[in-house]
Amino acid sequence: MAESTEFRTQDGVLPAAEVRAAALACGFALVGLAPAEPLDSRPLVDWLAQGYAANLSAMRRRIEERLDPAVVVPGARTVLVLGIPYDAGVAPAGIARYARGRDYHYAHRDRMRKLRGRLRAIDPSLRTYACVDSGAAMEKAWAERAGLGFIGKNGLVISRGHGSWFTLSLMVLDRGVDAYDSPHPRLCGDCRKCLDACPTEAFPAPGVVDARRCLSYHTVENHGEIPAEVRAKLGPRVFGCDVCQEVCPFNQGDLSPGDPRQAPRILGHMRAAEIAALTEAQFEELATGTPMRRIRYDGLRRNACLSLGLIGGEKDQALLGRLANDPVSSVAEAASWALREIGMP
Ligand code: SF4
Repeated sequence: MAESTEFRTQDGVLPAAEVRAAALACGFALVGLAPAEPLDSRPLVDWLAQGYAANLSAMRRRIEERLDPAVVVPGARTVLVLGIPYDAGVAPAGIARYARGRDYHYAHRDRMRKLRGRLRAIDPSLRTYACVDSGAAMEKAWAERAGLGFIGKNGLVISRGHGSWFTLSLMVLDRGVDAYDSPHPRLCGDCRKCLDACPTEAFPAPGVVDARRCLSYHTVENHGEIPAEVRAKLGPRVFGCDVCQEVCPFNQGDLSPGDPRQAPRILGHMRAAEIAALTEAQFEELATGTPMRRIRYDGLRRNACLSLGLIGGEKDQALLGRLANDPVSSVAEAASWALREIGMP
């Protein structure tokens, strides 16, 4: 017999077990619930003041909304934090693991849409604000507060079951729940493997990332010129960087598998030379629906050319020579630079 809404939501309080079960049924492997109290503003304000956001202009907007869920949902009482794991298997290092499969934004949005429907079946007048990596939210801080994992010295959220190989989203609810999760304690201890392994020394302090030095920022977000000292450290990387995750002890051993719907696609396994040689039509076919669409055709070819300057050789000379005459200046510049780096100007 179906329960009545009145029975299941008392005084605007939802049963946490039902909310969690609904999230799991919608395909989220990690679920946490935190009271929607405002976040400490200092880490974000300091980070922005230091210029560590580089050209991530979105981070400078809607600060109040990022820090206080009640600004986006009047009467906010709960932040529901959600995670989807991705494949952490070893493959050519050109593409970061999170980006090898379906774009996680779509995966989260689809599942959150279903989840919102399920929650409204419990409480039809529920109001929500959902966000995946783009709206006014601080997913990592909320994930730690909701017990999903802890923020490591590499600035990523680490869970005991999944390491840091998962993506996050969150949903603000204007309802309480009858049981919240406890914040996760930080477990890095004396370890500093990620800080020492970073190719560009992009961590000015534990847990603080300077995007101006971060290979991931430059290969994913920077459509302009990549500074010489950064491009010199690209190595085989074409889109994103996993070094600070690969060395983390919490990412070793018997972790839970990635979501099969986020399994790597063909482009996720390609090497720099193959990527640099793609036609625009091939790129559109292979990159559509993946995060690599973000840097667009010319950005990905630029990155691949720069990488070839560091890992390529004589066999890549003809390809780079052709791309050095590409009508797109960023690609031509990168290919010319790569030819000089491999000693074939
Ligand atoms: Fe923490 Fe060590 Fe992992 Fe870095 S590598 S996040 S310091 S446990």
